[in-house]
Amino acid sequence: MNRILRSWKDDWQSQIGRERIFRVRWLLNPDQPPLENVEIVEQYGRIAEIRRLSASARDVLPVILIPTLVNAHTHLEFSSLSEPIHPALPFQEWINAVIRWRRDCGTMRGEAVRRGLAESLENGVTSVGEITTSAHVCLDHITQGCSVVSFHEVIGLQQERIPELLALAATNLSEYPGFSSDDSIVGGISPHAPYTVHPELFASLVELAVSRNAVIAMHLAETTDELELLHDGKGRFVDFLKGLNLWNSATFPGGRSIRDFLEQLVHARRALAIHGNYFSQDDIQFVARHANVATVFCPRTHAFFGHPPHPIRQLLAAGARVVLGTDSRASNPDLSLWKELQFVATNFPDISIPRLLAMATTDAADALGLPIKSHQICAGAELQCVMLTSEHDSGDLRGLVCHPATQPAAVLIGERLSVSPPIDENLRG
Ligand SMILES: [Zn+2]
Repeated sequence: MNRILRSWKDDWQSQIGRERIFRVRWLLNPDQPPLENVEIVEQYGRIAEIRRLSASARDVLPVILIPTLVNAHTHLEFSSLSEPIHPALPFQEWINAVIRWRRDCGTMRGEAVRRGLAESLENGVTSVGEITTSAHVCLDHITQGCSVVSFHEVIGLQQERIPELLALAATNLSEYPGFSSDDSIVGGISPHAPYTVHPELFASLVELAVSRNAVIAMHLAETTDELELLHDGKGRFVDFLKGLNLWNSATFPGGRSIRDFLEQLVHARRALAIHGNYFSQDDIQFVARHANVATVFCPRTHAFFGHPPHPIRQLLAAGARVVLGTDSRASNPDLSLWKELQFVATNFPDISIPRLLAMATTDAADALGLPIKSHQICAGAELQCVMLTSEHDSGDLRGLVCHPATQPAAVLIGERLSVSPPIDENLRG
């Protein structure tokens, strides 16, 4: 099978500029029934036509064709890590280890961002929701064809620092306004989490996002410790903040909830609630009523921290928007969004493959405020797609999607065809 794809690749590249046709076993689009045996007609990087073929059609590539993917949440500055940071628990110990790693890494983070974008593209990801700290300056020259929503991360519990942090967030938004459709970087704002952002700073950041029509993203309802801190002003986060010399009981008087944050976030054009692991039924109903709020489920990171099952089913049943992200290599072995989709397809077999694909493409692009058309395969659109190959051929689509051997083998963007190095290695075998 790899030999077939290799020979197709040579053939495809030799015909550049002419009308080219390729046939695939499966074509998957978000929220559409999967199509078996399909012919794609392309010229100058655009899709001219998509035709159905009979079951007996010949020269059909044994691949699954999907649109390019969207990673709604990551932190690219950790992309040079070869494995997640330990210990995963308690969560505060993990954060301390992350802080130490970040301090020791210094200027190397710019290179990590570059590696993270390259890894994303190899895995068919062309739009990324990236939480940006000081590595921001490096993004300009290296997006490499990825659309990046760069959420400027804000951490600040001291009241006296609020004006300075707000000014910095405003400057970053001005740097990447995203007004032009050619802009590969669009600025956004990310108040880090309820336990690291002063309530007044949070309110001002939401106001800033609203006034600039910017997208906002916040880690929310990630741990039970976070809920305890908000409800009772107690728990593990108190010791954690004391250890950093940032504890002030007046900032966490108790009597607050996740809902308080959601009620402010909904004012932004688009808001991403990252994780939502411990959303209450009330929170779920609330986000379901607000289509501009998406919950970002990071499946393998969720598993890394050993949380109970994510409320994705309840969110979907309520009509809420859920999209997928990897989070960073500090809590995930790689940045493959396809592997996140496989993980959900395996563990939540009741969620349909076309619905899952929407969470990893069009819904995620829309949640980031990006155009969705780059993440659909249809006539008239630029050809942007990922070819998945597998040694396994069960004939059953879900079995094929879930099989670990089914992985991105090639990415086609316009007239550019790239084959990811690890799979290229396989192709030589
Ligand atoms: Zn994160």
